Amino acid sequence: MSIRRSCVFPGSFDPATLGHLDLIRRAGQLFDQVFVAVLTHSSKTQLLPMQERVQLIQAALAEQNLTAQVAGFSEKLLVDVCAELGAQVILRGLRPGADADLELPLAMMNRQLAGVETLMLPADPKFAHVSSSLVKQINAYGGEVKEFVPDVVRKALLSRR
Ligand code: ADP
Repeated sequence: MSIRRSCVFPGSFDPATLGHLDLIRRAGQLFDQVFVAVLTHSSKTQLLPMQERVQLIQAALAEQNLTAQVAGFSEKLLVDVCAELGAQVILRGLRPGADADLELPLAMMNRQLAGVETLMLPADPKFAHVSSSLVKQINAYGGEVKEFVPDVVRKALLSRR
């Protein structure tokens, strides 16, 4: 029996950006299987419902010819999501600034809770300033987001202005 190494890339993806897609593409070069876990955060106000966030990532992956399994999870511990999917590693992206301070305690906690390790990949400089929240603000005030999000996401955002 061959052992497949898989990772879970968790996030709100509200909406998915080209920065997220870049991370999924790079994870595909490191792991046999990549799961994208779309999570609901009770602390964050969300623009798009979870099902739409899942569908947009699936469509964006198809647009870019990338392979990953995408599913939504609500009110679940991330380590339980990893166990459910049979994944050994959590993948997170690191942008300059606050990401590292926020990520380190989460990574340490997930390791202590269930022995799950976290791999943090540095953001590509092209997308290091891109975040879902900035994209939402730019779109809400009539700005152009095509350099920051996949085409399917841009269309979905335009329809919500
Ligand atoms: P969360 O609310 O869990 O941070 P996000 O959807 O904002 O969810 O981000 C999911 C993951 O993607 C996080 O690890 C975040 O650091 C990473 N990420 C977000 N934007 C970028 C980007 N532009 N480049 C690389 N990684 C990113």
